[in-house]
Amino acid sequence: MIIKNLEVKHETIPLKVPFKTALRTATEIESVEVIITLENGITGRGAAAPTYVITGDSLESILAALKGPIKAAIIGRDVKEFQLLLQSVQSCCVGNTSAKAAADIALHDAYSRLIEVPLHTYLGGKKTLSTCMTIGVDTPEKMTKAAKSAVADGFQVLKIKVGANPELDIERIQKIHEAIPSYIKLRLDANQGWRAKQAVQIIHEMESRNFNIEFIEQPVPSYDLDGLKFVTNRVSTLIMADESLFSVKDALKLVAGRYVDLLNIKLMKCGGINEAWKIASIAEANGVGCMIGSMMEPCFSVGAAAHFAAAHPNIHYFDLDAPLWLDGDLDVLTYHRDQVILSALPGVGDVQTTFQGIKKDAT
Ligand SMILES: [Mg+2]
Repeated sequence: MIIKNLEVKHETIPLKVPFKTALRTATEIESVEVIITLENGITGRGAAAPTYVITGDSLESILAALKGPIKAAIIGRDVKEFQLLLQSVQSCCVGNTSAKAAADIALHDAYSRLIEVPLHTYLGGKKTLSTCMTIGVDTPEKMTKAAKSAVADGFQVLKIKVGANPELDIERIQKIHEAIPSYIKLRLDANQGWRAKQAVQIIHEMESRNFNIEFIEQPVPSYDLDGLKFVTNRVSTLIMADESLFSVKDALKLVAGRYVDLLNIKLMKCGGINEAWKIASIAEANGVGCMIGSMMEPCFSVGAAAHFAAAHPNIHYFDLDAPLWLDGDLDVLTYHRDQVILSALPGVGDVQTTFQGIKKDAT
């Protein structure tokens, strides 16, 4: 079944409230959609979003990679050479992981539509998924208000962004801890905002206060792998790599060297579902658990990530709330309180009808 065409579109989607981390403040996303068409008319969709400060990919670079080397690598080939096509997407250019992820998702969507099964069925799993809700970094008071609102909306795990001004981080978590039920788990994400010794000091203080912290993401700069290991070896709290993990090669190094306890896999960083699968399997082989996460990105690519997470046995944590931040139409996922419900239609799915978004006055 020959791939006859590849088209690319993009649109700007505003966020309901600004998304603030130690790295950036976003008020909208650029959503890139890629559509491949097979000779029998079946289409496969993929999506991506640029994140300059994380992947280095821009809107222009994603469009250029998709319309250039990626299109040239797959047009005219048979989609039934599925694994070879996925490999060609990865090898046709260096970098450009967001564009590669969009193409990889579109191929997975087309192939599972061709064999008429939902993507998670093709991948071989149907785990129940629930997501944390992210609380952007802000004043302790605003973050506490947002945390209470998320708990009232049914979220049982909160992902708290810290690291923007480390001197406030203990106060931020103390105030949130006091304002919400103690059974609510907290995931902290410093987005590279701490230095290694400072991270150990902050985490030890948090441990002494008995906050219900499930793990802490990326305490130190992405390049500082020695710092990451320094922190991991000195605290009881589990430490997760995010910005330090892009590729399969990164995963091999991180898990073999015991740099961290956990990995955060995102399709935009690794280049799609096939690479994500390899990373999760490498981690599994060394006893390292994984989370599926996402950038601020379109619902469709988060949906693809959710199908992957439902199928891979080593994805134990789910961070899939990005679509709830978008002030636009829902696509392939349904949210009910903290539950994430996959489409049962072939491929990644089609547009769903019910939607529970975050409240615009939550922060
Ligand atoms: Mg992170």
